[in-house]
Amino acid sequence: MDSVLLRDNPLLVPLNRDKTLYDGFITVQDRDFRLRVLLPAAGGLKGARLHCCWQLKHLLQGYEHVVKQEVCLKSCPECRSIPPPQYYSRLISEMETLGWSRLLFIDTEFRTLRLKAEDSSGRQHVLTVKLKPKSTLDQLHRQFLLILESLSEFWDVLDQIDSNTWILEPEKPSRSDTMRRIAIGTNVSIKVEVDPKHPRMLPECCLLGAEHAVTPLRNKLNANMHLWNLDSGVLHNLRDVLEIEFPSPATHEKSSFSTECGICYSYRLESAVPDQVCNEPRCGQPFHQACLYEWLRALPSSRQSFYMVFGECPYCSKPITVKMAPQQC
Ligand code: ZN
Ligand code: ZN
Repeated sequence: MDSVLLRDNPLLVPLNRDKTLYDGFITVQDRDFRLRVLLPAAGGLKGARLHCCWQLKHLLQGYEHVVKQEVCLKSCPECRSIPPPQYYSRLISEMETLGWSRLLFIDTEFRTLRLKAEDSSGRQHVLTVKLKPKSTLDQLHRQFLLILESLSEFWDVLDQIDSNTWILEPEKPSRSDTMRRIAIGTNVSIKVEVDPKHPRMLPECCLLGAEHAVTPLRNKLNANMHLWNLDSGVLHNLRDVLEIEFPSPATHEKSSFSTECGICYSYRLESAVPDQVCNEPRCGQPFHQACLYEWLRALPSSRQSFYMVFGECPYCSKPITVKMAPQQC
């Protein structure tokens, strides 16, 4: 069988010792086409499979009665990824409707597109799409803009926080980050979780830092909650409720807030930041929970009770405690 196949198609090369797999080129109407043939192990052409590109498949149309008798036609995976010419015509006409200036990137296969989208506040966003059978690029882009508009107020609130305060976490906030840890003072910060659906409402708040600094703020937050005004942003409300001015990039250096851990001397430990603080007002040294726990546990003078370890601050020797379980707010 293989001799017949090779005699008629000298550009086909057997790929295995059993000679059931061939790859190469076949000449049809003076043109060479890439072809892969899989012969059944039993021998013969019956049930053989032909992998070819769509151009050859197109030429074989009308010969299905011959081809189907012996082989079943299948496109090979690498050839299947090449779309028919209509795909490119559609892509071009849809880009023309949308505007070429919106195209930021297209991959080498012309499948994945990145489109520019600007919301009404002038924020730039990127939409990654593929051509869909039922909707045009223009429709997809419009839908995306509608979603952006629904989140516009949420980003207004966060942009105001980001540009007027020192954000300790996340290090580089993305548009999908709803949490911000805002510096209030040395080793004192507030973590807020803004609801994208109700961005002006009182967010979930958690004050972090030494007890002597955090307690008065927590009391103010509880006492002044009724002052929360839905017409102003989260930042203004936090200022009014906590009765503080947040240190801003215009007035303070960030280094005064992102203090490293007093045990490992780094700021970030995996994803944790130093959020355990010595309560002695003159010390106020921050530690990672894991570092402080390991440190205290190793000291013979420390004692453990349930999930708490009681010991001395490595810096000022005043009593300090740490929870064993992950820190929860
Ligand atoms: Zn540490
Ligand atoms: Zn201390």
